[in-house]
Amino acid sequence: MSTQDTARPLEVACPQCRKKVQWSETNPYRPFCSKRCRLLDLGAWADESHRIAGEPAMDETDLDALLARADRDDSLS
Ligand SMILES: [Zn+2]
Repeated sequence: MSTQDTARPLEVACPQCRKKVQWSETNPYRPFCSKRCRLLDLGAWADESHRIAGEPAMDETDLDALLARADRDDSLS
């Protein structure tokens, strides 16, 4: 029985919660400790880019106004 068979896995700190994570092929979420931490990090980035893009979606009020104007134009012509 050998204790030197496997290389010692590299340990990194999860960027989200600072928990020690083994950097290995078996951890698909590396360098995060879990899916949750990875999603939290991605979510933070998504929020940031959303704020920078800042294009307000057209809401129903705008649509109604456009439709009303289109109707008026129709009846005028
Ligand atoms: Zn974590």
